[in-house]
Amino acid sequence: MKAFKLHNPTDLESALALLDTPEARSGATRVLAGGQDLLTEMKEHLAEPDALVNLKHIPGLDQVHAGADGSLEIGALCTLAALEEHAEVAQRLPALAQAAGVVASAQIRSQATLGGNLNQRPRCWYFRSEHAPCLKKGGTECFSYGGMSKYNAILGGGPSYIVHPSDLAPALVALGASAEIVSAKGSRTVALEKYFTLPSESDVKRETVLQPGEILRRVLVPAPAANTRSSYTKFREKGSFDFALASVALALVLEGGTIRSSRVVLGGVAPIPWRSKAAEAALEGGQPSRALFEKAAAASVRGAEALAHNGYKVPLAKGLVIRALEELCA
Ligand SMILES: Cc1cc2nc3c(=O)[nH]c(=O)nc-3n(C[C@H](O)[C@H](O)[C@H](O)COP(=O)(O)OP(=O)(O)OC[C@H]3O[C@@H](n4cnc5c(N)ncnc54)[C@H](O)[C@@H]3O)c2cc1C
Repeated sequence: MKAFKLHNPTDLESALALLDTPEARSGATRVLAGGQDLLTEMKEHLAEPDALVNLKHIPGLDQVHAGADGSLEIGALCTLAALEEHAEVAQRLPALAQAAGVVASAQIRSQATLGGNLNQRPRCWYFRSEHAPCLKKGGTECFSYGGMSKYNAILGGGPSYIVHPSDLAPALVALGASAEIVSAKGSRTVALEKYFTLPSESDVKRETVLQPGEILRRVLVPAPAANTRSSYTKFREKGSFDFALASVALALVLEGGTIRSSRVVLGGVAPIPWRSKAAEAALEGGQPSRALFEKAAAASVRGAEALAHNGYKVPLAKGLVIRALEELCA
């Protein structure tokens, strides 16, 4: 690992000032949270910053604030273990508590943070190999397109075919969350659905709208509407700990036996949490039944284009949507 300078600011203003220099803005300074991804990247020479700004000594950034109106504000430094165990998160936002509980292992969840989970880099093995100069590292080719594509995207791919690795991201998009972003220049709030970027729509080397100098300060989750149910269902190759081969986050309002509205977001299949408005339209106004769930499942993968080795993700994602709907509407 390349030697680097470690800054330990104790207030947010100092942290933002450290990120507001020309060198920092050029990428030479990175933000450190739990270190579960960034330090691996540094050890594997995928990231070689000159300096890190450690956010862990800034008081309050790890807090969860439950509003009287049922909304939740979750600080970016909140660990996944704390999220999983938080009583109000479990009660108001089951999809989020369930997603936090199936990330990695208990040891990683005790260190990993919400902000780090949403901003972690892709797990594509070409991206993770220092010897593969892929598109996301400034090369000219996405090697997964003609190479080993078992874990890559079936939806929204091209020119890069990474999948977004976060379990929290689909759950939070399904719950209609927003990201509060701060920099030395001020703050802005972005719907989490717009926080993640497709490789075809922006800089292929990035996965979010976060600009140099900015950090994610907290995630704001609105109060769920009355009669909302939510869940997160994940399929992974290795039961003990593993990234999603596919997953589905659901939030739906079920009233008097009718699905009034829903949000259906797939994970592990696209470069961003993949919201399927076609599946949501198929469910709206319907009464729970196997036939309705199959229709929504088919709609959820509409437009899927499998690569050489990931065709299995299409039936897998459909099966997960059906299973999740059956369980949530039971
Ligand atoms: C063995 C293993 C298995 C895993 N399995 C899963 C899994 O099943 N599901 C899953 O979702 N994840 C999984 N992960 C990834 C893990 O969840 C992430 O590495 C972790 O959540 C990162 O959080 P962190 O706080 O440690 O972030 P760090 O490593 O400190 O940071 C990660 C990135 O986010 C940036 N960052 C951190 N905080 C902020 C902020 N507030 N604002 C802006 N940028 C920020 C950093 O600069 C860095 O680029 C796994 C990791 C490992 C090692």
